[in-house]
Amino acid sequence: MEKQGNIRIASENMMPIIKKWLYSEKDIFVREIVANAQDAITKHKKLADLGEATPEEHYKVTVTVDEKAGTLTVEDNGIGMTEEEVEKYITQIAFSGAADFVDKYEKAGGDGIIGHFGLGFYSAYMVSSEIEIFTKSYREDAPAVHWESDGNSTYTIGECDRAQRGTRIVMHIAEEEKEFLKEGTIRQLLHKYCSFMPYEIYLDPKGTEEDKPVNTTQPLYLKQPKDCTEQEYKDFYRDTFADFNEPLFWIHLNMEYPFRLKGILYFPKVRKQVELERGKVKLYCNQVFIADNIKEVIPEFLMLLNGVIDCPDIPLNVSRSFLQNDRQVQKIAKHITKKVADKLIELYKNDKAKYETCWQDIATFVKFGCIKDEDFFKKVEDIVIYKDLAGEFVPVTSLYGEEISDEDEKSGREPQPVYYVSDADKQAQYIKMFRDAGLNAVYCDTYIDPHFLSYLEYKNPRKVRFLRIDADVAGALKEEGAEDAELKKIFETALEGQHVTVKTEKLKDINVPAVINVSEFARRMSEMHSFYGMGESPADLTLVVNTANGAVEALKEAQEEDRTQAAQYLYYLALMNYRPLKPEELEKFVSASAMFVQNFLKR
Ligand code: ADP
Repeated sequence: MEKQGNIRIASENMMPIIKKWLYSEKDIFVREIVANAQDAITKHKKLADLGEATPEEHYKVTVTVDEKAGTLTVEDNGIGMTEEEVEKYITQIAFSGAADFVDKYEKAGGDGIIGHFGLGFYSAYMVSSEIEIFTKSYREDAPAVHWESDGNSTYTIGECDRAQRGTRIVMHIAEEEKEFLKEGTIRQLLHKYCSFMPYEIYLDPKGTEEDKPVNTTQPLYLKQPKDCTEQEYKDFYRDTFADFNEPLFWIHLNMEYPFRLKGILYFPKVRKQVELERGKVKLYCNQVFIADNIKEVIPEFLMLLNGVIDCPDIPLNVSRSFLQNDRQVQKIAKHITKKVADKLIELYKNDKAKYETCWQDIATFVKFGCIKDEDFFKKVEDIVIYKDLAGEFVPVTSLYGEEISDEDEKSGREPQPVYYVSDADKQAQYIKMFRDAGLNAVYCDTYIDPHFLSYLEYKNPRKVRFLRIDADVAGALKEEGAEDAELKKIFETALEGQHVTVKTEKLKDINVPAVINVSEFARRMSEMHSFYGMGESPADLTLVVNTANGAVEALKEAQEEDRTQAAQYLYYLALMNYRPLKPEELEKFVSASAMFVQNFLKR
């Protein structure tokens, strides 16, 4: 005989709220219902292990889609429920659990709860107009139970004639949620949420040998690192991230105390350097997928990696802002960061060749991590490397100078300059001068480098400053000598109105008539302006005229009119070596060049 009952909490108000919040994540109900089925099996297995229930040979969860009948069914051969248990666990706990969830969700404001964890059984009402439960407890004397409700205020409960132990949840899918009656949709959702659940899950099995579970019950990350082969790591990566590029290397996290943490983080091969390549770090809780890229748990920079992290100790049914301030969660994040740093250091020490080959792919990650996380920076600063003009990798810290003292600093002494190249093509002339003079510089040509170099200076204010190779004329490129006032005047007159400062130097490279310098500070300011969209603020240029160059010497002897033209011409030549000419500059340069050819031919 069927009984009717009232659900005591005011559930009729809950669904619109839940639907509104979880609109785009309705599909979590698949996880919740299948996870409940898995729990029921775990419970039964525990009892069987204790000798309190008959052991089961093949625990499994079966998911069936019946488009015609409009139902989605999840069945397990777990512990089952008695009538009292259905009353208690479903009518009371599941419904008040949902009310509790709504309450917490409201308190959390727009902040949300990670992976919408905690909604449980009730979540199935997001897509169902009616849910039926057929269940039979492992207790042999307990009759099977049928329960049914539309999720609002009433339900019916009574006996039924189910013979097998376990629970079958039949969801009558609502009219407007028909997509959940497609096998493809359900397969995808099982793949997303249930891939690593501990007991086999079958989708629409045919009862033949071909039936294969959709999940991996023993995901690789649960194994001991020493028992995993390289091929297994690669296979797991490919299967989990659908990335057919092999990962560079990986870190197997395996910790029991003071918190449980298992997982594998992979360093992917990055395809392009233009943008921070977004990785995917999937968070699991006891093999149940929670969400991707949870920035409250996993430090932001680690999200450039691909990985799986299973951490049952993270409180998931709390608001995100709570989680962010949770000590335990902070410890977990720190631990992960430390492990990543340790792995990089180990690779650097034990296999430098591999480290160097991977560097191009991991540099952005490491630099970004340094800027974001001081502890990480402290650990890895020594293994940040740059390629120098000779093509060798050098640790950036090896370029630092001795720390200057207070007094030195007061007297205006500057820390050791380290010259860098940001664009090998554009700075070719400067590179040649450096090479010829036996000077070194490093290539800093990724888009994160400008920020990173500033960060290194900020962290080591007395040890290093970075100067782009065209920022000034390094001491070793020139010879000591006084300024040539006459020459300076000639150029200043010729370049009036051009916003350029003129200097003369005796460069060792006699082939270069003049070079442009832009002070490091001014250039950075100007770059920052354009970075923040504050418009162009052209940095002031300095024209360094080389008194040792033949053309410059000849210019001094020439007639006044020729001098002016030649000075302008040399200026454009220098400018071209610094940056592309603007249209009006190019026009002047072309007419000046034509004039020179004409004069040359008429000679
Ligand atoms: P939670 O799983 O977080 O406790 P749920 O609302 O998902 O909350 O479920 C409420 C309770 O209903 C569970 O704790 C469990 O006791 C019972 N239950 C749900 N599904 C099953 C099932 N398939 N087999 C046995 N018991 C179940």
